[in-house]
Amino acid sequence: MTKLQTLIQQFEYISQHPAEMMKKYKEETGKGAVGIMPVYAPEEIVHATGYLPIGLWGGQRSISKARTYLPPFACSIMQVIMEMQIEKVYDDLAAVIFSVPCDTLKCLSQKWKGSSPVIVFTHPQNRKLEVANVFLRREYEILRERLEKTLNVKISDEAIKKSIKVYNENRQVMREFVEAAALYPQIIDPVVRHAIIKSRWFMEKSAHTALVKELLVELRKEEAKPWDGKRVILTGIMTEPNEVLEIFKDEKFAIVADDLAQESRQYRVDVPEDIEDPLYALAKWWQIFDGCALATDPKKVRGQMLIDMAKDEKIKADAVVVCMMKFCDPEEFDYPIYYQEFEDADIKNIMIEIDLEMTAFEQIKTRIQSFNEMLA
Ligand code: SF4
Repeated sequence: MTKLQTLIQQFEYISQHPAEMMKKYKEETGKGAVGIMPVYAPEEIVHATGYLPIGLWGGQRSISKARTYLPPFACSIMQVIMEMQIEKVYDDLAAVIFSVPCDTLKCLSQKWKGSSPVIVFTHPQNRKLEVANVFLRREYEILRERLEKTLNVKISDEAIKKSIKVYNENRQVMREFVEAAALYPQIIDPVVRHAIIKSRWFMEKSAHTALVKELLVELRKEEAKPWDGKRVILTGIMTEPNEVLEIFKDEKFAIVADDLAQESRQYRVDVPEDIEDPLYALAKWWQIFDGCALATDPKKVRGQMLIDMAKDEKIKADAVVVCMMKFCDPEEFDYPIYYQEFEDADIKNIMIEIDLEMTAFEQIKTRIQSFNEMLA
C-alpha cells in the first residue's frame, strides 16, 4: 500500500470513528471534548481551553425515540442527534455549544436530553450593521465566561488568538485540498473527498492540518490525468449518507467544488487576524461570511456565488447538484431564488433530497443517472 493510500484510509477511519477520536484525545491530553452543534460556532474559543471541539452531525440511523420530542417534519440531522442523545451517546461531552438560527435548532437546544451542560448563543441576523458585531462579541464574551465556569479553566485573549491562527491555517490548507481534489478525481473520489473534509470535525485542528499537508505532498506527486466524467459542485447543508456519494462515484461525477455547510462554508473565509480583540475578530467572521441560508442576506448572493464558481477557469463545472436537506426551511427558502438565477445563466442543475434516515437509494440513483445522460 502506498503512503497516499495509507493516509486516505486514515482519514476514512477518523471520519467514521468520532467517539474513538475523542477517547484518544482524552488519553493523550487528559482533557475531554466539547460538542459543536451544526452549523457555526466559534470553535476557536473551545480550542483555546485545550478541550477538543468535536462536531455533532448525527449519522445514518433509523429514528424511534426522538419522535417523542420532535415532530416528524424536523430535519433528519436533528432527529438523529436527538435519538443519539437519548441513547446517551453524547454524555461524555464536557459541554455542548449551540447557535440557534433555525426553529429546529431552537427547539433542540431547549430539549437537550443528554447530561452535558448546554451553552446557547445567538448569531445576529441583521449581520451587516456594526451593532451586529458588538452584539455578537458580547455573546462570545458570555460564552467564554460560561465555558470557563463549566470547564473550570481560564481562557485568555492570547490563547484565543493562537487558536485563531491554528484554525486559519487549517482553513487555508482545506482550500488547497479542495483545489487539489478537483485535479485528481481518479484518486479523490466523492467518498474519499467527504471523509477527508469530515475528519476535520473530529480532530484537533493543528493535527488535522499536518495530516492534510502530508496528503497534499503525496497527492501532488501523482500525475493529474484527464477526467472523462462530469464535474459538479455540491451545495446545501451536507451530502450524506455515503451511499449518495457512492452514486456520484458510480456515475463518474467529480466533485470539483462545494458550497456545503458541513464542508467549504466552514473554511472559505478566514477570521481576520489584524484585529486586536479576538472576540471581535470572531464576530467579524460572521459579518464577512456570505452565501449560507443560515446567515441572512437580503442581497441573496448565493446564486451568483455558485454561478461564478461553476464558471471559474479552475473549476469549470458541468453542473450544480443541490443537496436539499429534507425539512430544512432556511435552505428551502433560498432554493427558488438561486434556481431561477441558474436557469437564467444556463447553469445545469438538479435538486436531490438528503435524509439521514434514508435506506433506499434507487430513486436518487435513477435521477442522477438520467441527469448524467442529460449532461452528456
Ligand atoms: S439542517 Fe436546516 S432545519 Fe436542520 S438544523 Fe440545520 S438549518 Fe435547521
